[in-house]
Amino acid sequence: MKTNVKALVVGGGAVGTSIAYHLARAGWDDVMLLERDELTSGSTWHAAGLLPYFNMSFATTHIHDYSIRFYKTLEEETGLNAGFAVVGNLRMAQTKERMDEYMLYASTAETCGVPYTFMTPDEIKAKWPLIRTEDLEGALYHQTDGYINPADVTMAMAKGARQRGVMIERKWQADAFHWNGEAWEVTATKMVEKGGNLVPSDEQIVITAEHVVTASGNHAQRTAKMLGIKMPAIPVEHQFIVMDQDPELVEFRKQPGNVEHPVIRDADAQSYVREERGGWILGVYEPNAPARFEYGVPDSFRADLFQLDLDRIEDQYMAMNHRIPSAENCGLKDDFNGPICYTPDGNPLVGPAPGLRNMWLAEGFSFGITAAGGTGYYLAQLMVEGEAEIDMASLDPKRYGDWMTTEFAARKNEEAYEHVYILHHPDEERPACRPLRTSPAYDRQAAKGAQFGWVNGWERPNYYAPEGFNDHDARSFRRGGWWQYAVEEAKAIREGVGLIDATAFTKHLVKGPGATQFLDWFTCNKLPSVGRINLTYALTGAGTTRTEYTIVRLAQDEYYLVSAGAWTAYDSDYLRKAIADKAPEFGYIECHDVTTQWGVFAIAGPKTRDVLNTLVKDADPSTVLSNKRFPWLTMRNIELGMCPVRAIRVAYTGELGWELHHPIEMQNYLWDQLMKAGEPHGLKLVGARAQNWLRQEKSYRAFGTELGRDATPLEADLPRFVDLSKDFHGKAEMEAKGVRVKCVTLLIDGPDDADPWGREVLYHGDTRVGRLTSGGYSVAFGKSIGMGYVKPEHAVVGTKLKVKMFDQLWDAEVTEDSPYDPKNATIRIDG
Ligand SMILES: Cc1cc2nc3c(=O)[nH]c(=O)nc-3n(C[C@H](O)[C@H](O)[C@H](O)COP(=O)(O)OP(=O)(O)OC[C@H]3O[C@@H](n4cnc5c(N)ncnc54)[C@H](O)[C@@H]3O)c2cc1C
Repeated sequence: MKTNVKALVVGGGAVGTSIAYHLARAGWDDVMLLERDELTSGSTWHAAGLLPYFNMSFATTHIHDYSIRFYKTLEEETGLNAGFAVVGNLRMAQTKERMDEYMLYASTAETCGVPYTFMTPDEIKAKWPLIRTEDLEGALYHQTDGYINPADVTMAMAKGARQRGVMIERKWQADAFHWNGEAWEVTATKMVEKGGNLVPSDEQIVITAEHVVTASGNHAQRTAKMLGIKMPAIPVEHQFIVMDQDPELVEFRKQPGNVEHPVIRDADAQSYVREERGGWILGVYEPNAPARFEYGVPDSFRADLFQLDLDRIEDQYMAMNHRIPSAENCGLKDDFNGPICYTPDGNPLVGPAPGLRNMWLAEGFSFGITAAGGTGYYLAQLMVEGEAEIDMASLDPKRYGDWMTTEFAARKNEEAYEHVYILHHPDEERPACRPLRTSPAYDRQAAKGAQFGWVNGWERPNYYAPEGFNDHDARSFRRGGWWQYAVEEAKAIREGVGLIDATAFTKHLVKGPGATQFLDWFTCNKLPSVGRINLTYALTGAGTTRTEYTIVRLAQDEYYLVSAGAWTAYDSDYLRKAIADKAPEFGYIECHDVTTQWGVFAIAGPKTRDVLNTLVKDADPSTVLSNKRFPWLTMRNIELGMCPVRAIRVAYTGELGWELHHPIEMQNYLWDQLMKAGEPHGLKLVGARAQNWLRQEKSYRAFGTELGRDATPLEADLPRFVDLSKDFHGKAEMEAKGVRVKCVTLLIDGPDDADPWGREVLYHGDTRVGRLTSGGYSVAFGKSIGMGYVKPEHAVVGTKLKVKMFDQLWDAEVTEDSPYDPKNATIRIDG
């Protein structure tokens, strides 16, 4: 057995096997896969094999789309039939709201080129008369989709991998990982059978690998422990049952022209049904399915199952009999209750492991058969070429920070499982494990009616509503019950003054003799002079946007970096790894994550000075905040009452304003002072939703929507923040990419009762030309607004485009950048 390889993949389920295959296909010749038992012996063997396209995320839709196309090619390559039945996939809606969901999803699917059609109940009945349709509103149909045999597709990928030189070693368990500074030394133990259990023998070897990928399925917690990292990948029980033959189905299939039923998804009944040898398979996503293996998988659990819990799925079973009445007389033939790995948001963890070099994770797959092909393809791109063609951030393992615990992951994963078939409102907030991370002013905000959103564990007000208001009932695919409150809040900032809690911002302190040279190399804009601020970007090695920073220069070699709140661990990891690489060249650099030490209130609106002037302590309070003493894009240490404040004159809402960074332990004091001083001026509390709309009126790009690893800052149309006269990381690659797409702002004449959410497809005439990445309502223009990417020829101001919402095309026009106050007059206003 070889002991020195380029890449070692740990785990021979669908995911690990696909990764090994794609690494070889991408050109790496020395790839080895270790499997502690037999290939497919994890969750893969008992999967139902459905390949659902349906996913609200752009990246995941691409992954699923690749898998479905790739699996169709495997037989030709390997001679093995993976049993792909392209029967289509029928997603039924019992309510108008569910149809709204499908129409939003369909617009997203179109941005990735995924085909679909809508069907009426009559069309369904005419084609598949066994389905009861009188209580349906309609359905979404994917004709190119279906199901596959999970073990067969894995074996086909394994054969393809072997043909490309991959070494697959079974009955070897990876037991320890040591980074020697250049490569991983992986201790592997030969596994042997003992009394039906699989146990380690005394035989061990050490395999040296430049790169390691873990795809250890239900063993993720053991893997995390060995690596000394945290991974919120914990399985939950998942059941499906196989029914005996249904005589009516058998008869239906005998008739000429009748083909197999599509996979039938009755989302409102939390279940899926497909044909199986003349009978039916019923799979469910029921409430109260427990998490398992929080602390590891016992030796005795191999290709095993849990006991069926029929009581738990009784409602869904009855619902199946309602939907397909002929199923009621079928007996139970077989049952499966297996572990299905989950993560708190239902997305897998794919990408570089936190804090480690050349260690890649592919863990936490709940739709691992569907995702395996695409994950292998895009992860191999990431490893071999440095970046994937899609932005993998939404799957990055570092979207959860060190605050994450086993208890959190287990309870959140149970929730994610139960939520598979709920209505995926874009304004959804999930309740489990909350509140967990709260800023000190949380109780004060709650008392004022704050309706909180979840950001990286933090509670952050989305908007404020009157007493008795229920956020859950206010959610919608159209304008929800909260919309009117967000409108009032947005208007308050444009016309008066508003206060936003931005404590969740990620904050790093970078200082030391090497700090200036390092940041000059690490980011693409000029560094600010002392006391000033710049907006800038750290790029990937491929020249695309890795992180957006507001950089404040506190002293000659001391910088305060502010970035998006959702991405603390993701940003920290990239920054720290880059510092470690570059410190030998540039000199000593310290990096501190100070996120939880600083609270942030953003105060903005034309009356901001009126509020702050009454609080600020200074020999001449009336001039402290004037343009002369405190110009736009500068930082000053000021005192508001007894609170020392690092005040930064920027406003993400595009109005006169300051970010008030303050010691977290003084937050409540500062809050009370601001409330008191603000009262005579009508200070309004404002949430993240209004802020999101306001920043679109200013064309301010947001990280995770307009800004990500699939576009360069030049494609984001931000040349004013890119200093081409200096050298910086990713510059040559950014320039080589040119401008393939361009970010634009659009004013939209949409439906009267809805705004876009930022996932919709854009058309020019009959041609698909791009997609929205943000959407909302503009109080300044009294209509919908959005931002997105189009081909450069369609980015010209005045270009008339169409946005697809609710299966209709609506007029949209490309505006100039910053349609509201393009000259920044209100932000710079003196006083
Ligand atoms: C009842 C049920 C139905 C499902 N239906 C579907 C479906 O219809 N469609 C779908 O897409 N998904 C479905 N799934 C989910 C799907 O089964 C999983 O997402 C998928 O199998 C995960 O594949 P994997 O390769 O990540 O993990 P696994 O298949 O669990 O593979 C991990 C492998 O790693 C090995 N391993 C672990 N640790 C080590 C180590 N230290 N050294 C060496 N080897 C190690 C294990 O032995 C195992 O073989 C279903 C799941 C269940 C439970």
